[in-house]
Amino acid sequence: MSPPPLADLHLHSHHSDGLLTPEALIELCASRGVTLAALTDHDTVAGCESARLACDRHGLQHVTGVEVSCGWNGQTLHVIGLDFDPAHAELTAHLSHIRARRADRLIEIGERLERKASIAVRPLVTRILGETDVPTRMHLARSLIAAGHARDVSEAFDLWLSRGTPGHVPEEWPALAVTVAALRAAGARVVLAHPHRYRLSGGALRRLLGEFREAGGEAIEVSVAGIGPSDLDRLATLARNLGFAASTGSDFHDPAVPWNPPGRFAKLPADLEPLAARLG
Ligand code: AMP
Ligand code: MN
Ligand code: MN
Ligand code: MN
Repeated sequence: MSPPPLADLHLHSHHSDGLLTPEALIELCASRGVTLAALTDHDTVAGCESARLACDRHGLQHVTGVEVSCGWNGQTLHVIGLDFDPAHAELTAHLSHIRARRADRLIEIGERLERKASIAVRPLVTRILGETDVPTRMHLARSLIAAGHARDVSEAFDLWLSRGTPGHVPEEWPALAVTVAALRAAGARVVLAHPHRYRLSGGALRRLLGEFREAGGEAIEVSVAGIGPSDLDRLATLARNLGFAASTGSDFHDPAVPWNPPGRFAKLPADLEPLAARLG
């Protein structure tokens, strides 16, 4: 008997701010019963080919994925592209532009922390920039912990990296419509990631979803690890009423974090159309 379908369409590897190689990640997915996987690293497709080969070895269905940083009305949003051509020139140029911004931003965060909080962050920043193509605040959070400036990732963000802290740098990512267009040009199906995490009123979220659809978005993440029942219900209602397909994923980064292993997220309400059914 074939296993029940379990689509994890939101996963990170060490090509961005996850800790596992794509091979180890897919092996973990296989051991946890995932049947369809998309590696969705932040702003890079560098791990996609390894993920595809690992999925072939473990008998998982695979689609190409990426989680792209973008801006909308002063907010940072994450948009996921799935099942596209990872070599498409417009998309790869879009992603390398964001990675260059990320590097500049990390340097600026380091300078602010040195200036305002007198922490010797520059050596940490230099090391991160030498080690990854996609420098994220998560990398700096881990370095700050290792240097004794925070006990855990959430404290590192609360003390040094979030809005209102000495290391906060206002973000300027490409606009939502431009982002969706770059993904669509490469043939992607486009998903708004974790809509419940943005600090938006109900009205603003509906406006966002209207613009997202207008730009070419077709799905929203409804079942994502860590979402509570009332948010899930709210997103399910929006997907239903606005005609979006529903996506599922763990947003897995780190095997030491016990609550969101690959494949662990709530079941979608039965009347929603799973985006996974349109893939492959
Ligand atoms: P960046 O894209 O560089 O802003 O880095 C953000 C990454 O750090 C996200 O993809 C999350 O994985 C993680 N992150 C962001 N905010 C927090 C937070 N408050 N606590 C823990 N992790 C966070
Ligand atoms: Mn991340
Ligand atoms: Mn995200
Ligand atoms: Mn993510």
